[in-house]
Amino acid sequence: MRLVLVGPPGSGKGTQAKRLIKTLQLTYVGTGDILREAIRQKTPVGREAEPLIKQGLLVSDPLVNEVVAELFRGPHRPERFVLDGYPRTYAQAVAFDALMRQQFLKLDAVINLAIEDEEVVSRISFRRICSNAACGAPYHLHANPPKQPNICDLCGAPLMCRDDDKEETVRRRLVEFHKNTDALLDHYERQNLVRNIDSTEPVDVIFDNILKSLPAEHAPRVA
Ligand code: AMP
Repeated sequence: MRLVLVGPPGSGKGTQAKRLIKTLQLTYVGTGDILREAIRQKTPVGREAEPLIKQGLLVSDPLVNEVVAELFRGPHRPERFVLDGYPRTYAQAVAFDALMRQQFLKLDAVINLAIEDEEVVSRISFRRICSNAACGAPYHLHANPPKQPNICDLCGAPLMCRDDDKEETVRRRLVEFHKNTDALLDHYERQNLVRNIDSTEPVDVIFDNILKSLPAEHAPRVA
């Protein structure tokens, strides 16, 4: 199974990706993680990506395409995977199609976690994170509240709102998201790969709907 996961911030992409890799035994490929690791290791890619990531801007298409191509051409090529955060633009999707063809691999589906912008803004306003950088545990005031108000369960530090979770920033990220993603989804619609999943449902229902939307031969086997 080879999947691309698309969804705005706050759509539950990370949660669903975790479930998919576990249930379908897929490799997780997150370009955000790869870039953050490159920054930590101070590689040339990391040095180029760092200022852009810090400003909440996208890294250039050629740079991120090269990072992904290197992974797929390398000795640890993912065979069955879920891609999170890539492709993010039409140009990346075209480059990724070419890479897949070169590698004789085929995508099975593009899961679009659909949710209205206003719902995203409201959901994200309930997100909190532990202010202790060494801990950083995530919370949600409704779905995953701390045991004591505003205090981290794990380390006792106060909770805070991440800078990029502030309403104004979220709205800016949503504008960016639509600017890039509408053309991306049109591209995959033409290949009949898009599965639109209502992302306002409870987490378990969303996950079931994703599994049901996948090609039958890939459905998880029941023991
Ligand atoms: P993420 O963890 O997916 O939210 O990504 C964190 C940051 O990494 C983004 O805000 C971008 O700066 C950068 N990034 C990750 N994936 C891509 C991509 N496919 N294209 C461009 N920039 C990306």
